[in-house]
Amino acid sequence: MPEPVHALVPRLRAICGDDGVLTDTAQRRTYESDALTYHAEVPGVVVLPTSTEQIADVVRLCAESGVPFVPRGAGTGLSAGALPRDDGVLITTSRMRRIIEIDLENECAVVEPGVANLDITKAVAPHGYYYAPDPSSQQVCSVGGNIAENSGGAHCLKYGFTVNHVLGLQIVTPRGDVVRLGGKAADAPGYDLIGAFVGSEGTLGIATEITVRLTRAPQRVSTVLAAFETTDAGGAAVSAIIAAGVLPAAVEMMDALSIEAAEQAVACGYPPGAGAVLIVELDGPAADVEAYAAVVERLCREAGAFEIRSADDPAQRARIWKGRKSAFAAVGRISPAYIVQDGVVPRTALPEVLRRIAELSARSGIRVANVFHAGDGNLHPLVLFDDAEPGAAERAAEVSGTILDLCIEHGGSITGEHGVGVDKACQMPTMFGPADLDTFDRFRRAFDPQGIANPEKLLPTPRLCGERPAVRRGEHPLVAEGTAELF
Ligand SMILES: Cc1cc2nc3c(=O)[nH]c(=O)nc-3n(C[C@H](O)[C@H](O)[C@H](O)COP(=O)(O)OP(=O)(O)OC[C@H]3O[C@@H](n4cnc5c(N)ncnc54)[C@H](O)[C@@H]3O)c2cc1C
Repeated sequence: MPEPVHALVPRLRAICGDDGVLTDTAQRRTYESDALTYHAEVPGVVVLPTSTEQIADVVRLCAESGVPFVPRGAGTGLSAGALPRDDGVLITTSRMRRIIEIDLENECAVVEPGVANLDITKAVAPHGYYYAPDPSSQQVCSVGGNIAENSGGAHCLKYGFTVNHVLGLQIVTPRGDVVRLGGKAADAPGYDLIGAFVGSEGTLGIATEITVRLTRAPQRVSTVLAAFETTDAGGAAVSAIIAAGVLPAAVEMMDALSIEAAEQAVACGYPPGAGAVLIVELDGPAADVEAYAAVVERLCREAGAFEIRSADDPAQRARIWKGRKSAFAAVGRISPAYIVQDGVVPRTALPEVLRRIAELSARSGIRVANVFHAGDGNLHPLVLFDDAEPGAAERAAEVSGTILDLCIEHGGSITGEHGVGVDKACQMPTMFGPADLDTFDRFRRAFDPQGIANPEKLLPTPRLCGERPAVRRGEHPLVAEGTAELF
């Protein structure tokens, strides 16, 4: 453990208690990565605080000593955002799992950051409510991590991402100050600092208390499964559905390879011979759902669907979702190793981008299975390779990177919901120019002048990205001339 971190241990113990500070190598190793395991580093020290005050004291100590810190929720991130540092403190929120308040009259709940996403829904379901953002990892991922990544899920097409469901935040800034942003009332005046904090990947501080919006459970939910010969035909159905003015809660698509994997893993029973399966979920007042389901079925048939199934009761709907929900893990059945990529394109560009991915796959000999949130153009290509074969991992990484280039080329983005973290920091200059990156850096420094909050995540750094750093070095000219101040 590097000396500056080592020197903090007695004071960290005084703040978090002996059982709240992990220094043993085997224990620290447990935290060496998030779900993107090929980035790994054993943290200098791990702390498990139980309150905002403890987090503030730990962060203040880090700031005084110039020691970096990394926030961590459940560690399910897929961009190495919670990758620890051997010269830093890993601040884990797993002991902060209290649902502090459920306020049905104001349709909100106040929670600690370590609460698992699905636990909010479980707590409010008896009252006819749920928490809408639904990442597939929702059984375990933390609300704090969702805030940091602005996480989405299958139903974000209709209900929006995490940012649309956060009313208030208590944060600990990188200087150790405890600050409240927003509250139970919507739309606080002034700059939208909640909007800025959500998606900041732990670089602007640590969320320690979160006020989330609760959504009323719909009267009726109906799920339609349509099987097509090609993803092009499925894509045409998606465009037709949206153009008809139907706003489904979710529109998900899987291609032939991902269907094959899901079939092998969970025997989902999707129609044999399907080159693409579309899952469209509709929710709302019963009469609307019934009418829209009929429209969706008609448009799917017109686009070439050769089999359509629909379900209203929860058990049958769960059967339709089974293959989709297991898709990431299922790919392990057909490939020894794989990369889960996350990119976005405008919905209309989906067919073209999928064709280009197929060409890339044929050219490189690397198989790509596609599972995606078709409604909002969020692709999750699963790039398959055999890690025992020399050079295969590198070729897969190249294919995976080229897919992101394709997304940018088609007016999209390098991440839809998994964040940038370490994994995509070096791709930020492909998407943003030097002036943009410089502005991001200045914004970050306004919160974190010392650069100790989750360093080397989100923005490219010279150490990680060769010669592609942000442009600003040294003092900004406006600061030098006394016109502006960094605070
Ligand atoms: C099988 C699987 C399926 C997934 N499906 C989806 C999906 O459908 N949609 C989706 O969006 N994502 C998905 N993910 C990715 C992941 O679950 C989300 O990014 C999730 O929000 C991460 O939460 P976490 O608690 O695990 O955060 P972690 O991985 O621990 O951390 C993620 C980031 O948040 C920061 N952070 C954590 N807590 C705080 C805090 N309190 N304050 C400030 N920063 C903090 C960390 O520093 C890091 O940068 C999936 C992951 C897996 C493994």
